[in-house]
Amino acid sequence: MQRQLTDEDRAFQQEMRQFFTETVPEELRSGLSKDGEVDPDVMRRAQRLLNEHGLAVPHWPTEFGGKDWTELQRHIWRTEMQAADVPPPLAFNANMIGPVIASFGSQEQKERFLPPTANLDIWWCQGFSEPDAGSDLASLRTTAVREGDEYIVNGQKTWTTLGQFADWIFCLVRTDPNAPKKQMGISMLLIEMNSPGVTLRPIKLIDGGHEVNEVFFENVRVPADQLVGEENKGWDYAKFLLGNERVGVAPVGSIKRKLADAKAYAAQTKTATGTMLDDPLLAARIAELEAEVMALEVTVMRVAGNSKEGRPDPVSSILKLRGSELQQEVLELITDIAGPASLHWTPTDDIEEWAARSTPTYLNFRKASIYGGSNEVQRSVISGGILGLKG
Ligand SMILES: Cc1cc2nc3c(=O)[nH]c(=O)nc-3n(C[C@H](O)[C@H](O)[C@H](O)COP(=O)(O)OP(=O)(O)OC[C@H]3O[C@@H](n4cnc5c(N)ncnc54)[C@H](O)[C@@H]3O)c2cc1C
Repeated sequence: MQRQLTDEDRAFQQEMRQFFTETVPEELRSGLSKDGEVDPDVMRRAQRLLNEHGLAVPHWPTEFGGKDWTELQRHIWRTEMQAADVPPPLAFNANMIGPVIASFGSQEQKERFLPPTANLDIWWCQGFSEPDAGSDLASLRTTAVREGDEYIVNGQKTWTTLGQFADWIFCLVRTDPNAPKKQMGISMLLIEMNSPGVTLRPIKLIDGGHEVNEVFFENVRVPADQLVGEENKGWDYAKFLLGNERVGVAPVGSIKRKLADAKAYAAQTKTATGTMLDDPLLAARIAELEAEVMALEVTVMRVAGNSKEGRPDPVSSILKLRGSELQQEVLELITDIAGPASLHWTPTDDIEEWAARSTPTYLNFRKASIYGGSNEVQRSVISGGILGLKG
């Protein structure tokens, strides 16, 4: 595989770099408020600016704002965006439900939902997981019973990320409890969060933040035209969506940026004999991580969007696995560089913001090896589906 960029790709990279570092204003970059939580206003403004310049949903069909880019160009776009710390388009919109509606939705749904989804006029959240149905997603119990032109939905979802900002939720629901296989009785519904009978309850996380929620449905009436595709075919759409979800979870640009930050922090942290960067063990750890990130980047370039007949490649499980592991290793490194200062959680005159934030950030990103399908499950996919090993 060619790892050198052609002149044309290099020019494209320059164009992206310039846009993300010069056109996107400083106050929108980082996307996080001081306490590390997502600022919905910043997210909306950033996505709308990207959309205005045709850079929010390049992987969508061109009639709905997509670009006819090569996979390499998409990779460059994503990596430059991450490297510049620009909040990426909301994954639930851009990577998850948008492509599902574009591929399986009715024409009416495409026209109704895709433009506001690209522009973040609708904020989506993902209602897949339930208590006892995370890795074993097909065991979900939320029901939808058809009554005339409506479905009546009852049940509970959990771990609903940023549900507190969401206007709509895309949900997997059981429509045929008697189907011969549990996967065959599931449908996908689009539900307005302000529908009567929907309640949201926050879950507080270990870093002190509020990022995920429980969502309860009690006799919620959902118009039948908000069913995606065909009834009882929801499992197919969910598999398509989850494959796309994993392509986005090897954040090479962010990992590289964090690693560069780690080096800068080590260089500014004094020791008895110089700075932490002079410590050969720390330098070796950084070098090893840099080599690993480079290997991941090559793999991303080989795999990214290597769809067969529009279906995501199962190799995306490798990206999910290594991407989340490396992200965690780099955040652990930063915590180690911060040392005892990492235990303060709030900056003071003596303790810089990066050091104070390092432990909460490290703890927060333990999530990366759980969501989007846990890493243990990814290993099973890799061993069975790619290496051909029998369990
Ligand atoms: C921060 C965060 C945000 C999330 N956001 C969302 C969201 O927005 N929407 C949504 O729908 N879901 C969301 N999730 C849910 C996420 O997808 C699930 O947590 C995940 O799929 C794991 O399911 P579980 O939590 O039920 O764990 P379980 O499935 O109960 O797993 C528990 C442990 O057992 C292991 N395990 C389970 N089955 C196997 C197996 N077959 N082989 C080997 N090991 C196995 C798992 O790897 C894990 O270590 C989020 C989760 C987190 C932590």
